[in-house]
Amino acid sequence: MAYLENYLKQFVSEDIISKISAETLSFASAVDVVAKTSPEIAQAIVDELRDQRNSLKLIASENYADVETLLAMGNWLTDKYAEGSVGHRFYAGCQNIDTVERIASQKACELFGAENAYVQPHSGIDANLVAYWAIMAAKVEDPALNKANVKNVNQMDDQDWDALRKAFGNQRLMGLSLDAGGHLTHGFRPNISGKMFEHYSYSVDPNTGVIDYEEMRKIANEVKPLVLVGGYSAYPRKINFRIMREIADEVGAVFMVDMAHFAGLVAGKVFTGDFDPVGHADIVTTTTHKTLRGPRGGMVLCKDWLAPYVLRGCPLVLGGPLGHMMAAKAVAFEKALQPEFQQYSQQVVKNAAALADELMRCGATLTSGGTDNHLMVLDCTSYGLNGRQADSALLDSGIVTNRNTIPNDPNGAWYTSGVRIGTPALTSRGMKEDDFREVARMIDEVLRATKPVEKDGKISPSKYELDSEFSAKIKTQINELLARFPLYPNIDIV
Ligand code: PLP
Repeated sequence: MAYLENYLKQFVSEDIISKISAETLSFASAVDVVAKTSPEIAQAIVDELRDQRNSLKLIASENYADVETLLAMGNWLTDKYAEGSVGHRFYAGCQNIDTVERIASQKACELFGAENAYVQPHSGIDANLVAYWAIMAAKVEDPALNKANVKNVNQMDDQDWDALRKAFGNQRLMGLSLDAGGHLTHGFRPNISGKMFEHYSYSVDPNTGVIDYEEMRKIANEVKPLVLVGGYSAYPRKINFRIMREIADEVGAVFMVDMAHFAGLVAGKVFTGDFDPVGHADIVTTTTHKTLRGPRGGMVLCKDWLAPYVLRGCPLVLGGPLGHMMAAKAVAFEKALQPEFQQYSQQVVKNAAALADELMRCGATLTSGGTDNHLMVLDCTSYGLNGRQADSALLDSGIVTNRNTIPNDPNGAWYTSGVRIGTPALTSRGMKEDDFREVARMIDEVLRATKPVEKDGKISPSKYELDSEFSAKIKTQINELLARFPLYPNIDIV
């Protein structure tokens, strides 16, 4: 394929063509075309590139998708309705979407060594919802459990669902507690999962900050959950999925892992053996845009016994699949299959270790005393700050993190006591251990320079003082650092 070259050859010499950046041309023309109809939107797209280039992005759940992945999203695959699954669509003319979805699923299976992959979920939350319904549907139709006498979950009416809930008597889900790093979709009330399931938590050892598997085993034996969930949004350590599998088997639970955060570390072969969830869990969900560095989206991997139920995700739970996003997922999986991605994933973890060590050397406290994945949670109380004051002061200085609870957080989920810091995005820009040590020193300096504000004898939970000249000095340092690691260097539009 050489569409661009063939087109340009009509107008300019091959010598000139060889000097043209296809990436710049693609994005410059895309933005210009969009601007003809929606100049403000075109401007926002360009502004976002500038902002991303100029910020020190330490948000653990964000990354920079590869140019190939970005480009696979913006096209007419979005125009097609394709409810159903490959070869079983409710609409005619889905041959190209079938090709895209089939390749994306195959690549996902190859990448993760999974038996089945369902690449339709529009996001991580949707992937979890598909998984929960699949688990329940499989249990409903399991003759040994089918006390509600339901033949097919798609044909259930309200009364059937009522009977089902009664028949189960055990619609319990057990996951990591929210303050220790669990995710809302793991059975917490603000999410639908907290309404579908009676929720129970396991947590971390108060002394070590690391998951206490014996405590988990004890709770699981008392609760006998239908679903045992592993995975997290803000837990800084590896999880032993072999032990969790044993516990699930002991209590007859379905074992589900949400690897949204660390899918890239699994794909990149940093987490292997006991720490790779795919061989151990019945069902694994993920996002595709965090450490995996793909487009914004979700995915479900599962064992054969769950596949027929997972495949019903659309239209049972999901709206029509997004063909353009599945195309971008396929491209991202292909990129993740390359040796460079393994090097990248290893570097993400090495960088996190360097950042954590340097922060602690400066005197910071990290939950669990460090990290062995891509993120860490800094306990801001040792600086006399809460999470909200800390993440705001860091942002004033050009350092982007997000506030986060620490285990048994005294400041609650809104103000919090911690900030979550992650290395995937800046590692994609090419930063190495020494650069992250420099970042650690800047974080420490900013937090030391930030002071809470007292009003009427009370410390305000949201106000703080930080000298603006000091922030400006840090910003200059950051700009110098970022200039050494250009973002999307082949896109020369701003
Ligand atoms: N699961 C986990 C563990 C997450 O951390 C997140 C997002 O932060 C999600 C699911 C939800 O992903 P999405 O925002 O794509 O719905």
